[in-house]
Amino acid sequence: MDRREFNTGLGAAAAASLAPLPAKAQVYSGPNVILVRFGGGVRRAETIDEAGTYAPYLRHILAARGVFVPDMRIAQIDGVDTSHAEGTLNLLTGRYLAYRDAGSQLLQDRLEPTEPTLFEYLREAFDIPSHQALLINGEDRPQEEFFTYGVSPHYGIAYRSEMLSLHRFKLYKFAQILEEGTSREATLIDARQQYDALLAADPRAITPGQSPEVTEFWRRWRGHYGDDGLRNPRGDRLLTALAVRALRELRPRLMMVNYQDPDYVHWGNPSHYTRAIQIIDDGLQRLVETVESDPFYRGNTVFVVTPDCGRDANPLMSVPFQHHFNSRAAHETWAVLFGTGIDQGRVLDRMVDQSAIAPTIAASMGFRAARAEGDALSDVLI
Ligand SMILES: [Zn+2]
Repeated sequence: MDRREFNTGLGAAAAASLAPLPAKAQVYSGPNVILVRFGGGVRRAETIDEAGTYAPYLRHILAARGVFVPDMRIAQIDGVDTSHAEGTLNLLTGRYLAYRDAGSQLLQDRLEPTEPTLFEYLREAFDIPSHQALLINGEDRPQEEFFTYGVSPHYGIAYRSEMLSLHRFKLYKFAQILEEGTSREATLIDARQQYDALLAADPRAITPGQSPEVTEFWRRWRGHYGDDGLRNPRGDRLLTALAVRALRELRPRLMMVNYQDPDYVHWGNPSHYTRAIQIIDDGLQRLVETVESDPFYRGNTVFVVTPDCGRDANPLMSVPFQHHFNSRAAHETWAVLFGTGIDQGRVLDRMVDQSAIAPTIAASMGFRAARAEGDALSDVLI
């Protein structure tokens, strides 16, 4: 009997006896999981290569602390694109091709999951409010607003995660400016235009609105950084700032941080890419230090750090560092897992498929990602 049949059975039995429905979900006590997408596509050469790394904290400190998986791969399957949204949804669902085009004229590369995400499994299994299942997204990727829940019938919006991003903050800010109505007329007209443009870019994620806890989070953020957008950090530093604040104020049980800036190498020179890797490495250090200095998280948290996809390693490419041409290196990633319940000081000396991430996180949190196709790395859990 799968979970759906089980729940149906419970519901039928309860209705028959006119007894109140049993409490569906249990209280969750841990471990908490922070999934860090070392994203925007990175090559092993600049991240986990011992001599070549631009992420020394990751490679020299964190990798030794838990289980280091140097050979994770995105499977070679027809139709699998080695890219950011795709890789992220592989990580969140434990499957390949578990997404569909969300059908927007305004945004390309807009995918929504067709299978349950980790957030949905978690919130179905445990009594966890939406603001404790968090996605932290980049500022110019509203297409990733779609990852908060899938369109599978049994899960979906009731079990969604909440989203923190600059896109979300601007929605809050312009709505507030319009509601307050105290700004100069030009400011109000601009706020109306910007608010409408944000709504048009992201119609699905507007309903339902964000929870009162997240609204309160934005109120404090606005109080701290103001309205002009010039004081808050930008790029992947912004993601670190949002994630650190979220840990302190929202107490997420599962949080995914979608770093992305190494992807600017599509347009720029390689130093943008290696600099972006350094910034993620700094962000990782801040996240780990925040967890270790907080009694709520210390000793009860797992970190999983892994890229969305690799990048080409072919020096003969006319434009190096790309990831859309299905080259071997674009399929090559890695993972570092450490924290409560994870083995220590271990290198997993075998090939591991990217679809293992979701079921492994599920196992460490005590639920099953029932539709995941990958196998949990049960031998690294202690
Ligand atoms: Zn890219």
